[in-house]
Amino acid sequence: MPAPVLLHHPSSLEHDTGGHPENARRIVAIEQALRERDWLGWDVRLSPAGPREAIAAVHPIAHIERIEALCCRGGGMIDMDTIVSPGSFEAALHAAGGCVALVDALMGEQGVSAGASLHRPPGHHAEPARAMGFCLFDSVAVGAQHALDAHGARRVMIFDWDVHHGNGTNAIFHDRDDVLFCSIHQSPLYPGTGPAADAGRGDGAGYTVNMPVPAGSGDDVFLSHVAHVVAPLALAFEPDLLLVSAGYDAHADDPLASCLVSDEGYAGMAALMRACAEQLDVPLGIVLEGGYDLGALARSVVATLEVAGAASAAAVPDVALHPLALRVQERLAAGHWPALLA
Ligand SMILES: [Zn+2]
Repeated sequence: MPAPVLLHHPSSLEHDTGGHPENARRIVAIEQALRERDWLGWDVRLSPAGPREAIAAVHPIAHIERIEALCCRGGGMIDMDTIVSPGSFEAALHAAGGCVALVDALMGEQGVSAGASLHRPPGHHAEPARAMGFCLFDSVAVGAQHALDAHGARRVMIFDWDVHHGNGTNAIFHDRDDVLFCSIHQSPLYPGTGPAADAGRGDGAGYTVNMPVPAGSGDDVFLSHVAHVVAPLALAFEPDLLLVSAGYDAHADDPLASCLVSDEGYAGMAALMRACAEQLDVPLGIVLEGGYDLGALARSVVATLEVAGAASAAAVPDVALHPLALRVQERLAAGHWPALLA
């Protein structure tokens, strides 16, 4: 069996945001922890710059050129949260390119069943024509679209466990039924989108699944939604590829949100997603989003990758059905997903 594939690139360190919580120390902390563990035996590769055509499949060319021009002029603030420096365009190209290369490995190389793309800036807040929330290009969306366009995937599922709603990915695939976007996020919280009632539109009705949870939600709530909603939803949708928008800011130690997930909680969610991928016999890709406590971030990324890429599957946690997850099951079963209460 080939080793899982890990994509990274030094340009992630050249996206200079000053004293912002989303800074280069995040990647340094993650890579230090992985290096101390010999990269877990993963096949570590340098990410190519994302081909512009692949990025342009989910963002207008004018958006890409606007970011490029701003970085060429020396950078500046796009909004209160989103800062770019001269190195940011290159970093964002490689973050998107990492997802493209991850999908190429997962869908195009024999036997590669797991992988990760670990870059910054993150991507899931970037809307088609608008950079926001520390994000310039929606890398996970670029990867999902690439799986459809270049590898003949019929369906892709993206599960977003970052504590913030992935409004960018939500917007990009809102009216489509070939990419199922499912997000668990603290609500209310930035960016304020992702109510349960937002379930997609037109052909995409039912293919956006938003699971807002209150501040204070911990492992029981998050694991229950994964075990009792996300996994059965994946089995019903039958994607050819499972991607996780993996943010680590629902961690109890994170300074930007108020959820209480532990390192073990992330390992448990990873075990559930891996079991789901194995059941479907499809590959699993982990794409880094947020996470702002350096210790919690590094430990939880390591915990996720250890479980996602272990030679033999970790024990899947036995998770009680939380009342909030039951409510989501009932809502989905009454709409597009009757299998959830079958
Ligand atoms: Zn986040």
